[in-house]
Amino acid sequence: MTIYYSTNRRVPEVALDQALLVGQAGDRGLYMPRPVPQFTRELLSRARDLPYAELAAAVLEPYAQGVFDREALEEICQDAYNYEVPLEQVHQNRHLLRLDRGPTASFKDFAARFMGRALDRLVRARGQELLILTATSGDTGSAIAHAFYGLQGIRVVVLFPLAEVSARQRKQMTTLGGNVTTIAVEGKFDDCQALVKQAFADPDLARLNLSSANSINIGRLLPQSVYYLYAVSRLADLAGGEPVVFSVPSGNFGDLMGGLLAFKGGLKVARFVVATNANDEVPRFFATGRYQKIVPSIDCISNAMNVGHPSNLARLVDLYGGWMDEQGNLLEPPDMDAIRRDLYAVSIDDDLTRATIAEVYRAYGAILEPHGAVGWAGLMRYLEEHPEDDRLVAISLETAHPAKFPEEIRALTGIDPPLPPSLQGIETRSEQYGHMGVDYPWFKEFLVHHYTH
Ligand SMILES: *Cc1c(COP(=O)(O)O)cnc(C)c1O
Repeated sequence: MTIYYSTNRRVPEVALDQALLVGQAGDRGLYMPRPVPQFTRELLSRARDLPYAELAAAVLEPYAQGVFDREALEEICQDAYNYEVPLEQVHQNRHLLRLDRGPTASFKDFAARFMGRALDRLVRARGQELLILTATSGDTGSAIAHAFYGLQGIRVVVLFPLAEVSARQRKQMTTLGGNVTTIAVEGKFDDCQALVKQAFADPDLARLNLSSANSINIGRLLPQSVYYLYAVSRLADLAGGEPVVFSVPSGNFGDLMGGLLAFKGGLKVARFVVATNANDEVPRFFATGRYQKIVPSIDCISNAMNVGHPSNLARLVDLYGGWMDEQGNLLEPPDMDAIRRDLYAVSIDDDLTRATIAEVYRAYGAILEPHGAVGWAGLMRYLEEHPEDDRLVAISLETAHPAKFPEEIRALTGIDPPLPPSLQGIETRSEQYGHMGVDYPWFKEFLVHHYTH
């Protein structure tokens, strides 16, 4: 049975329900599954024929053993994954996996929708109430707000950096109301994340039953391993064929961790291209073995990836045998050779991001947005340096819908990306959100005042 241990190893192992409910472990570590379940031969041979929701339930079953049975998982996944997961051939053996068809048009819907439904079941079964705190650089907040909106026993507070979130991204979370409260912070994403982390660590707030919907919660990662298997099942021979190359535009490294879990579970991947924007602390770490956060993080047009210290790096280090604490101190080095064998990290600046959007549209008619363009540019860089992998199937993740970045796309391609149904009508809805400085005492007082009863 898969259990969950903390990367800091100072608290006991727990089952999935406890890991989901608390988010972060009591020693401030992040929960990791042990052992990572292996895909069965049977699943690998049937995957191609399974619709997405069924595949998701099958992949998640061993992770949830003893907590959710297959039937519960089927229900959760049928309900969560009621949208398309298109694969788009761009050029020869190079493809885009479009993860942007959920209700908030980013890949974060995959995890948020699973997590909301899973937590709702747990909370209802226990007669508990839960207060979810989330820091967002844009897409997490809206995905979580939508996925949790209207759930009975769960209330949500979302903090977002006022200046770093586009109007459309903001409206996706500030127009809901109900059990969802949003607060604009006069600061950076990292400030929002620090405020949330401080609240979790504050013993005075323990009675509020806080949990996290950020990717420190293992519930955000597990569902993200499904689409890696899904993509390969549709494009290659899962059981016997050659490995594939994935490119993952990365900020907090939750998406990549989903891929790495699939890889450790037996998915054949030649290399993960880990593509960051100008926030290049991880590419530097992989190159030098020394880790240094970027404070403050750099503003790039791929704004959901403006992260100067990715919270999931501690998990990645753990997966490769090292230990990084919650501050980013490397207490034990991971196996850097193994990291470099499996992962190719590259930083793509805004100029190249823009040039990539223009060029991919001109050459192939495919529409990328800034995050996906970072991934695509990273893939091209990798294939230039590794021509031996040119013949492999390559899959680049497109993590948001181009219509979320209309000005940028119009300027670079001359076209107006059509709005997906999920974004229509949002401009005219009325917004409601609070404001705060980077001020922990104020935040604490706000939580105590509004959420104690
Ligand atoms: C969050 C996000 C990313 C980065 O994903 P991580 O899991 O944080 O690495 C990339 N693209 C988009 C559109 C996002 O919203």
